Amino acid sequence: MLGLTCRFLQGPETNAQEVAQIHTALASGREYAGELINYKKNGVPFWNDLTISPLFDKDGTLSHYIGITRDISARRSADEDRQRQERLYSFMFEHVQAGIVMHKATTEILYANSMASTLLGVTHDQILGLAHTDPRWGFIGEDGERLPKEAYPVNVAVRTRALVTNLILGLRRTSDSKLVWLMCNAFPSLNEHGEPIDVVVSFTDVTELKIAEQALKKSEERLSLVLRGANDAAWDWDLMTDALYYSPRWWQMLGYSDRELEPDSQLWKALTHPDDHAGLEATFGRALLEGSASYEVEFRLLHKHGHYVPVLSRGFISRDAAGKAVRVSGTNTDLTDQKLAEQKIYELAFFDPLTHLPNRRLLTELLRKALQNSIRSRQHGALLFIDLDNFKVLNDTLGHDAGDSLLRQVAQRLRETVRLADSVARLGGDEFLVILEQLGSTPQACAANAKHQALKLRGALGQPYRCGEIDYIASASIGITSFDASSPSVEDILKQADLAMYRAKSDGRNTLRFFDQSMQIAADERLKLEYDLRTYLRNEQFELYFQPQVDSSGTIDGAEVLLRWFHADRGAISPTVFIPIAELSGIIVPLGEWVLLQACQQLRLWSAHPTTARLTLSVNVSVRQFADADFIANVLEIVKRSGADPSKLKLEVTESLFAVDVDGIIEKMRLLGAAGITFSLDDFGTGYSSLSYLQRMPLDEIKIDRSFVHSLGESANAAAIARTIISLADNLGVEIIAEGVETMAQQALLESYGCMRYQGYLFGTPVPRAQFEATLISADSCSTQQHGALRGLEI
Ligand code: C2E
Ligand code: CA
Ligand code: CA
Repeated sequence: MLGLTCRFLQGPETNAQEVAQIHTALASGREYAGELINYKKNGVPFWNDLTISPLFDKDGTLSHYIGITRDISARRSADEDRQRQERLYSFMFEHVQAGIVMHKATTEILYANSMASTLLGVTHDQILGLAHTDPRWGFIGEDGERLPKEAYPVNVAVRTRALVTNLILGLRRTSDSKLVWLMCNAFPSLNEHGEPIDVVVSFTDVTELKIAEQALKKSEERLSLVLRGANDAAWDWDLMTDALYYSPRWWQMLGYSDRELEPDSQLWKALTHPDDHAGLEATFGRALLEGSASYEVEFRLLHKHGHYVPVLSRGFISRDAAGKAVRVSGTNTDLTDQKLAEQKIYELAFFDPLTHLPNRRLLTELLRKALQNSIRSRQHGALLFIDLDNFKVLNDTLGHDAGDSLLRQVAQRLRETVRLADSVARLGGDEFLVILEQLGSTPQACAANAKHQALKLRGALGQPYRCGEIDYIASASIGITSFDASSPSVEDILKQADLAMYRAKSDGRNTLRFFDQSMQIAADERLKLEYDLRTYLRNEQFELYFQPQVDSSGTIDGAEVLLRWFHADRGAISPTVFIPIAELSGIIVPLGEWVLLQACQQLRLWSAHPTTARLTLSVNVSVRQFADADFIANVLEIVKRSGADPSKLKLEVTESLFAVDVDGIIEKMRLLGAAGITFSLDDFGTGYSSLSYLQRMPLDEIKIDRSFVHSLGESANAAAIARTIISLADNLGVEIIAEGVETMAQQALLESYGCMRYQGYLFGTPVPRAQFEATLISADSCSTQQHGALRGLEI
């Protein structure tokens, strides 16, 4: 080294600035002290702690430098490690999501990280040296009470000299008076005597967790409260094991003690109301399949005492990772009270409390429905507006109790007088409304029926009432309006009935008035006709006409008897007009009997003569007649009394006969059939025909309706129907006859289809007996000479 400059110690990592400082110091004769990297002979760098001091002569001249060099590599690397560590610690200290505060054993704050100062609501500078009891913050316990000083974590740690872990505290800082929930830990560091030197307290913000926890707790409390106190019956169903738990309340709700029945999954199904099964299964099945988390369904469960308990069942479905339902748990709420309340509300809302009749609101609804029904069924209906006459007088003189009593009796009478399907409502005061449905398919029929019903109601209301101690006679004015598909709105119908009622009132009380004048006329008319029908029947002023029926050769082999009414004032009235009236009023029963008797007597007379003995007579019989209890006995009696050959009597019935009570009808037909009487099915193809009925009917003949015959040449459809009817009759082994045959073309077609008997204008219109017989004579006179015989007949 001797003779060398110090430069040989330097290398690539030597700090050039440090070297420059040495030079500056030396140049100015000052001492240098510093640390720099030097290199050993083998090239390994080391940290060199270097001091260079100048030496001066006595006269002050710089003579030497004395340098002391020391290898400080070991110390340098320990320093670097420590610095690195410190950096790391302070980084962690500042970035950890927790407040960390270091206290002296005297609890004054020695150090705190920035999170700590943020949470405590002070700045980093302010916090150092503060006491733990600084007024800028305060603590509360989990119970919400102010935390006493001795319970502060730092104090606990100092006192117990032990760790404090996971203590939950509420921190209320004065800076923003916000409540922050903290989870605190504290650990004291102790000296060799076991005395605390300092304490580290760390705390994290758990406010969100705490809020969630509080919410959960609250909802759990609520649930347990609900389950304990309320009506809900909990149950739990493990779909994997099919195990079912029914809570005590579940059993109680149905009147059972716990587990009184086998608590399996079949139990609730077995107790479910039969009508609710389908809906329940549908809801439940859908919820399971569609991946819903919950469902709600109402159904009824059988109570031990035999009645059904309406329940609202809410189920929550748990699923496995694949989404498969593994468990359903839920509650049943007893809806009995709710249903009762609903019923009560319904009653209050829709019924009149005094009479328990529907009120105006419900009536409007009922009327709307009736109107829809009417449109669907093409039947007319009527609305009756009924107002008691002089009700106010009764109310004022006898008092409200008497008035109420009268109104209740009126309500009851109205209800009892109308049919079950009809509606009665109270509008308020002494005003009542009646909806009558299915009054007929024509305005005339409707008017007649409505009037009939209204008279019945008026009659019922006219009976004396017992009000308290006295008998009271009341009358009513009734306004009537009809409704059908062409009717205006429900409100207008109501107005019309109201108007009609006022007209009834002004026309002198205790009367009926139609809103529609033409209906008024029709109804009056109808009543008049009914009256005349009875009179004419009593006087036997009807006539029978005969329309020939012929075979394929044109020979007359029978006739249909058709009733004729020649009215003294109104001339001939068509059976299509008076027969429906006779049917509605029931006059058809005695009238039909009269026709039958005439026909049978005619058969008896004809039987004595070769030309007419073979003739059959077809007599029309209405459904209404058939329905009459004495019909069979009367027919048999008439046949017997007249001495007619029952095999020559054909009763024409229509398909509408089979609309109700098929078995009863068949039975009646068999009884008559057993006596030799035959049956023809009239107007076939226009009614209820069901092939299965046809097969069971003891029929002898089917009559193709004249509408098909009429359309034969024009409509392929009609032709097809006619052909089908003919082959059907063939299959059933039943005779066939076509009515309404007017042209030779029609006859030819029918014949080509296999129909061999005909009736219609082509062969003869309905004519009086004498004329009919004359036709027979002239026909016969062409072949045989039997004038005499027939002449004798007419006498
Ligand atoms: P219905 O039983 O279908 O009687 C046949 C109707 O067709 C008769 O009408 C007859 O005059 C008419 N007619 C006959 N041939 C022809 C034709 O070639 N072309 C056309 N267009 N019509 C023809 P009427 O006499 O007016 O009788 C009408 C309905 O009154 C009868 O229909 C029947 O349902 C009923 N009726 C008649 N008399 C009685 C009776 O004594 N008792 C009962 N219950 N109903 C009767
Ligand atoms: Ca007929
Ligand atoms: Ca007919």
